Amino acid sequence: MTSGDGRPVVILGAGLTGLSTALHLRRSPFLVAEREQRVGGKARSERRDGYTFDVTGHWLHLRDDRVKALVRGLFEAGQLVEIERRTGVFTHGVMLPYPIQANLHGLPLPLVRDCLVDFVQAQVTAASPGAPAPRTFREYAERRFGRGLAELFFVPYNTKLWGVRPDELTPDWGSRFIPLPEPAQVIGGALGLRQEGLGYNARFLYPRAGGIDHLPEAMAARVRTRRPDSIRIGCAVEEVDPEGRRVKLQGVPDWVEYRALVSTIPLPQLVARMPSAPAEVREAAAALRWVSWSYLDIATRRAPPMHEHWVYVPELHIPFFRVGVYTNALPAMAPPGAGALYVELADRSGHVRLRDMIPHLCAMGALAGPDDVVFSELRHEECAYVLFDDACHEATTTIHAWLGRVGVRACGRYGAWTYNSMEDSIIQGMEAAAWAEA
Ligand SMILES: Cc1cc2nc3c(=O)[nH]c(=O)nc-3n(C[C@H](O)[C@H](O)[C@H](O)COP(=O)(O)OP(=O)(O)OC[C@H]3O[C@@H](n4cnc5c(N)ncnc54)[C@H](O)[C@@H]3O)c2cc1C
Repeated sequence: MTSGDGRPVVILGAGLTGLSTALHLRRSPFLVAEREQRVGGKARSERRDGYTFDVTGHWLHLRDDRVKALVRGLFEAGQLVEIERRTGVFTHGVMLPYPIQANLHGLPLPLVRDCLVDFVQAQVTAASPGAPAPRTFREYAERRFGRGLAELFFVPYNTKLWGVRPDELTPDWGSRFIPLPEPAQVIGGALGLRQEGLGYNARFLYPRAGGIDHLPEAMAARVRTRRPDSIRIGCAVEEVDPEGRRVKLQGVPDWVEYRALVSTIPLPQLVARMPSAPAEVREAAAALRWVSWSYLDIATRRAPPMHEHWVYVPELHIPFFRVGVYTNALPAMAPPGAGALYVELADRSGHVRLRDMIPHLCAMGALAGPDDVVFSELRHEECAYVLFDDACHEATTTIHAWLGRVGVRACGRYGAWTYNSMEDSIIQGMEAAAWAEA
């Protein structure tokens, strides 16, 4: 392995953050070590019998001009499609446009009235001097939208999504992702004036060929053009010795010395691989919690009747919280006339019976009929969402402060330990590259 001035920047993980770091290193030699047999991390795709599935919906919402230029430069003209979001909320047997807080029309009138009254009351309370800041996500939802909307959507939906009660969650993660309509939009939407285009993700990009993995594959191809052997797959990091500035990698007999280390693997896993981490850092890592994800890939004979790209399902008696139809965005993700969908499950135990789902999927139009399933596969993602509880902020601050002192940069969704998008991950990779070469 190279040493001295020739020591590489070592990057742990070849998801979008790691690949973006590699792409943006200008001068330095580098080595990307990826545990799996392919690049992409969460932005990978599975293919079977002409159907394509991602790790549930992976739609590219781009706002940053640098990322837009990068992504467009990775694809030939016409290889990316831009799609206007079609999303809904299915509750009380009715499909409402998203977001529900601005589209209550269609629900039973007494329920609409109660939600509006509570919303107005919440606005009045929030405007009064000295109103305290919310401490939990439940308080945030009740104070921002009123108790009616909190109970109708925010509390049950987030209970299913996070697998814990919203009283255990801090409110900070939601501010960027939850649309905050004006009172006129809330009232207009309750009267039937459809409110569209609200929120951070009204349009998205997606590879025309089908499968979000075309993005990391294109990034990896560009990295390899510059440095052919710089990405090692099937090469997990086993140990990090920050004092010696070296890492132990699977299948590599000697320690690999590094000039700078960028880690995108989950933060608790990084600390677990650092025997020299002090006790307070280990304790902080032990306090971090995360949410695993169980979901079904479903292949259907016919195109689903529902026309939305994805739908939120808050009611607790329905065993899933979100359903998406890939083929509504891109028909090429299934054989002609067929459908490919994902169903994100509230239960993470693995005891899932498709037949329990089918009546609900039919009721909301995600399946044309009970015999429409060609095949389904249950998938599990161990670390999907960082759980923002009371301990999280202090614990991550402790860990990152120590990592900073020993010259390690942990970034990306799971390295930084945050809630982010693919675009954010690409930006974090850019920033990590600048840090490594500073
Ligand atoms: C269910 C879900 C849906 C999402 N939907 C969207 C969406 O619609 N739009 C959007 O913009 N974003 C979405 N995201 C977010 C998006 O997936 C992430 O922002 C992004 O993919 C994170 O990239 P990353 O490189 O930081 O992490 P990862 O993709 O997790 O990459 C980390 C890499 O490290 C590797 N690794 C782990 N341990 C080791 C080890 N010991 N040694 C070496 N390598 C290791 C992993 O195999 C992986 O390849 C979604 C995320 C989830 C979980």
